[in-house]
Amino acid sequence: MPESLHRLIYTSRNMIGGAAGGAEPEIRQILASARRNNPRVGVTGALMFNGGCFAQVLEGPRAAVEQVFERIQRDHRHSEVSVLQIAGVERRGFPGWSMAFVGRAAEGADTFGHVAEESGFEPALLDGDRLFGILRDLVLEEEGATGVR
Ligand code: FAD
Repeated sequence: MPESLHRLIYTSRNMIGGAAGGAEPEIRQILASARRNNPRVGVTGALMFNGGCFAQVLEGPRAAVEQVFERIQRDHRHSEVSVLQIAGVERRGFPGWSMAFVGRAAEGADTFGHVAEESGFEPALLDGDRLFGILRDLVLEEEGATGVR
């Protein structure tokens, strides 16, 4: 196992205010930052947004994951950041994505909301492995279909 490859999974509460759908510009900005910054330090992952909460998987060399996460933790666009898992892993779960996105900020797409309804999905109540599995399934199914890219 490449010793330095680590996965960090957290959930947080959305603090972006405004009307329904009003979070989209902020989400775009977050994704733009992630997609610009993460490749420079070898971090890949996925971000989920369901209106109320974020869930994110960050994968890469341990020091890089910690550095990116330190920055994210200080961001006032979310709060109550709760780490569900940090562990060494053999391989990346999202190798092709500097930051994959699933969520309902996308215009006309409510992919995550739909899954949430069916599964009673509440990110903060899930453990890291379960959240990772759900995110991976969603990304594989939906990454091509969401409007925020
Ligand atoms: P820039 O990307 O150049 O900033 C772009 C714009 O965002 C600027 O207009 C700036 O004013 C605004 N901005 C920057 N920081 C903040 C802030 N704290 N609050 C409000 N506006 C701000 N960053 C990553 O690099 N990788 C990630 O994977 C990642 N995931 C995130 C997930 C979540 C849920 C959230 C809320 C943020 C995430 N971010 C991520 C963003 C991160 O918190 C920093 O804002 C970002 O890394 C700063 O990058 P930068 O210095 O290149 O600023």
